[in-house]
This record gives sequence, structure tokens and C-alpha cells, in this order.
Amino acid sequence: MKRRTFIKNSTFSAAGLISASLLASNNNEQKEKKPSKIASTSNKPIVVCTWNFNKATSKAWEILSTDGNSLDAVEQGVMVEEADPTNETVGLGGRPDRDGNVTLDACIMDKDGNCGSVVYLQNIVHPISVARKVMENTPHIILAGKGAEQFAYENGFKKTDLLTESTKKQYEEWKKTSKYETIINIENHDTIGMLAIDNNGDIAGACTTSGMAYKVAGRVGDSPIIGAGLYIDNEVGGATATGVGEEVIKTVGSFLIVELMRQGKSPQEACEEGVKRIMKKNKGRTDFQIGFLAINKNGETGGYCVHPGFTYSQFTNTGQTENQVESFYKKQN
Ligand code: ASP
Repeated sequence: MKRRTFIKNSTFSAAGLISASLLASNNNEQKEKKPSKIASTSNKPIVVCTWNFNKATSKAWEILSTDGNSLDAVEQGVMVEEADPTNETVGLGGRPDRDGNVTLDACIMDKDGNCGSVVYLQNIVHPISVARKVMENTPHIILAGKGAEQFAYENGFKKTDLLTESTKKQYEEWKKTSKYETIINIENHDTIGMLAIDNNGDIAGACTTSGMAYKVAGRVGDSPIIGAGLYIDNEVGGATATGVGEEVIKTVGSFLIVELMRQGKSPQEACEEGVKRIMKKNKGRTDFQIGFLAINKNGETGGYCVHPGFTYSQFTNTGQTENQVESFYKKQN
């Protein structure tokens, strides 16, 4: 679905669906600040992900609700979107760079702070699983480009053409008007970042994307950068981001949000502060979107974005919800 259509649809469909969790996190804003270490986990298991990727949270929930661990849940959850050719911002069917190549970024992080990442990976449907293999089977954290691709083949991943008829056509159209120029906009930001807490109270996260559409060849965004697109601290919580990665990297956004939660902020307050820090350095700019999503050790969630339209999907024992998050700019610009 095109971003513009998505924003419209999500605004309407989610308007009546502001969930208990969102209300809960708003209430938390009024509560007293929490101590820096949150000892117990009350709302578990739970999974959340950026945007309304309900199929992804359903898959993760299958694992969490049968006593599976949060790492398997986030990996398998985001794989749903990576394999979906109609999601044109993640995995198979992701929009290409300005040379017509689909290049993928992904990272994963577990409860012990282990992490793995792939950047500028081509021809592989599931970069998140390659990132997990980097984490588990190598002494490294990040593999890039050809090396990452070679590593994927060595680990049994199949070569797949990721460009679809639809993205090929859009790319040809884009070339006519955009004259090979990468233009920042508030659309086309549907990276999936997922955070989960399992029955043991352990937190894991995953983030995967085809990055900014028609980006300069070689460009890597925030999504595979630990601390920027994703960060997990099992003592505190986790955070993930979507939107223009350059701005998220500059503030080390997800790490910042987890640290703000460590200092006592609720997930909602921490996400708001993260966006406000970015906007402070970008006074008056309206041409980009960023959405942050966070969860704390208690399973409380929060989100905040620059422009209206960012949503997140959540699955807990009380069911699945789509949550509209509040934004820095109150009206669509
Ligand atoms: N954060 C991603 C990137 O900058 C893009 C997105 O979320 O759509 O690569």
C-alpha cells in the first residue's frame, strides 16, 4: 500500500481503536517517576511492532503464547513482512535504490545484549535471519554487502530476485520525474521494528527494512545500526524506530529512549523526548517522518512520531490492538 493511502487508512481505521495500552501509557505520564531499575514484569508476554503489521504480531504471539522465547518471536514475526511482496518497504518486494537494486538492512538483539546486523544485503529474502546467524555463529556484529551475501549462501540461504513487477514499474516511473535524485519525504516509511517480552520476562527486538526508496547506492540507514534503529536492555526495556534514518542515527535514537526509560521516564515520555530532541535540531522542518516505539520491563508501551499517521500493532493476553500514536505536528503537513 502506498504511504499516502496508508496514512489516510490508518488514521481512520485506528482512530477508534486507541487501545488500553496507549491509554495506560498516557496515564503513566501522570504517575510518579519510576526507579531506574524496574524489577518485575507484569504485562507479559507481549509483542509490539511499528505500523499496523498485525500478521507479524500474530505470528510472534503464536510463539510467545506457547511459551516460546522473545528472540524467536521477533525473528519469526518480522519474517512475515520480509516475505510479503506487497510490503514495499521490507524484504522481498522492497523498493530499490536509485540504481534499481534492492538492498536490505536488518538487525536483531537478545536479552543478553548480543546482537547481529546485516547492511546493504542483496538477493536474500530474510535479512533478519542472516543477522541472527551473524550474532550466533560469528565473533562479529555487522556484515555488509557482498560479504554478508556470501555468508548467507554459506548458511543455506537461497538467492532470490527481490524486485517485483510492481516495484520495477514504480522505479521506472520514478526515474522519469525524479531525475536520479533521492528526495526525503514523509512517506514510504514502513520499516518493521518489533519488541517482545516472553513469559520469562526477557526482552528481544528485531528491525528490518529495504531502507529509503531510491536512496543513493550504498546508503545504509538506522535500521541495522544497534542503538539507532533498535536497542534492547533487558533490565530496562527496548526501543525501535522508523522514518528517516539519518535523523535517528544522529541522536542514536533507540539507545537514547532506553536510557531515558532507565532514568525513570515511561515509554511514552521517552519516545516524546526522543522526537523532540530531533525536532529541536530541525526547527521548522516538516519534510520528514520519524516514529519511535518503546516498551519497558513492565510491558508498558509508548510511541511518538513527527507527523500524524504512525501506528503500532500490539498483541498481549487481552488480544491484538492497533494503536494510533500522538505526533509532534498535530495536523498532516
Ligand atoms: N528507517 C529506515 C531507513 O532510514 C526507513 C524507514 O523506516 O522507512 O532506512
